[in-house]
Amino acid sequence: MRRYLFNSKELENNNEIFDVIIVGGGLAGLYCALNVDPDKSVAIIVKGHIDGGSSYLAQGGIAAVTKKWDSFDLHVKDTLIAGAGHCDEKAVRTLVTEGPEIIDDIIRLGVQFDRDENGDTIVTREGGHSCRRILHCGGDATGRIMTETLGKEAQSRKNIKIFFDTFSLTS
Ligand SMILES: Cc1cc2nc3c(=O)[nH]c(=O)nc-3n(C[C@H](O)[C@H](O)[C@H](O)COP(=O)(O)OP(=O)(O)OC[C@H]3O[C@@H](n4cnc5c(N)ncnc54)[C@H](O)[C@@H]3O)c2cc1C
Repeated sequence: MRRYLFNSKELENNNEIFDVIIVGGGLAGLYCALNVDPDKSVAIIVKGHIDGGSSYLAQGGIAAVTKKWDSFDLHVKDTLIAGAGHCDEKAVRTLVTEGPEIIDDIIRLGVQFDRDENGDTIVTREGGHSCRRILHCGGDATGRIMTETLGKEAQSRKNIKIFFDTFSLTS
């Protein structure tokens, strides 16, 4: 299916066609774009700039099972308790079990998590977690550093074009 993107300011002369259109340039949109087949053209639509979403503001860090004292079952259990009956257990299990692999992928994409003197990632403990499992960057600058790093990577890819200050409307 072809997807059209129109710039309303120059509607007659400026329309482009993309294989994939992603609305949002937070971590979800950026990571999604970076995982699209490089043979496909991708447009990311961002109503403001890279610092406009929640991702940029996130401070605490990102939870994943990366240490020997932790387990998928424990992370699932903690998440279901914290979710107070609102979580889809299957979705939680997918999120938790795919976490470590995605952390490795994010590191490959250039995100530098804080590490100790031995080079091991440092994890902290936050509310709702029964053990230390929160990876972070630059202390409490995790969201900013991750968004800037993935944003830079997306902007360097030939198949990805980011439209800032562009509001997406559906009817
Ligand atoms: C202050 C704060 C601290 C947080 N701390 C943590 C934390 O420590 N750890 C954690 O895991 N989570 C944390 N969260 C939650 C986390 O930040 C979000 O769950 C996550 O960033 C959501 O990512 P996202 O890409 O889906 O959304 P966002 O990062 O919010 O991105 C949404 C994107 O969509 C764009 N957009 C929206 N509507 C339109 C439109 N109509 N047209 C064009 N573009 C549009 C926005 O411009 C933006 O680029 C925190 C949230 C906040 C607000």
